[in-house]
Amino acid sequence: MISIIDKHWPMSVGDGKATRKKKPKILAITTDCCTGCAGSPACIEYCPIEACMFWVPDEDHPPFGRIEVDPNLCIGCQKCISKGPEGAFLDGCPWDAIEMVPTDDWEAAHEVTLSDSPPALTAG
Ligand code: SF4
Ligand code: SF4
Repeated sequence: MISIIDKHWPMSVGDGKATRKKKPKILAITTDCCTGCAGSPACIEYCPIEACMFWVPDEDHPPFGRIEVDPNLCIGCQKCISKGPEGAFLDGCPWDAIEMVPTDDWEAAHEVTLSDSPPALTAG
């Protein structure tokens, strides 16, 4: 498991129903193409998991920033990249800045093993 210490708003609020019961086979990651949508990230409203997609400020260029995905929480549902039929309203990321990657590859690249369940919240 890796620790994510700096989650800022805006972030996904989730649908209150979806939970991660098992480590997914694929994970969402954001790429350098992420613009942060000028502070109004289009992607986060599609993510069904609370605090899975979160804001990371660009310390050198405030108020800019980007969205990142918590690999401990992502369920690989692909809702953040879903797009409507051609010509329909474009859901997901308008900049194609979100990619789905095999979880095995992600773990190998980061030399960590993700857990099935989200990390337990500790009180205090
Ligand atoms: S794949 Fe699903 S859970 Fe993961 S970041 Fe995208 S919308 Fe959220
Ligand atoms: S991933 Fe895409 S939709 Fe989400 S903040 Fe970045 S550019 Fe915007």
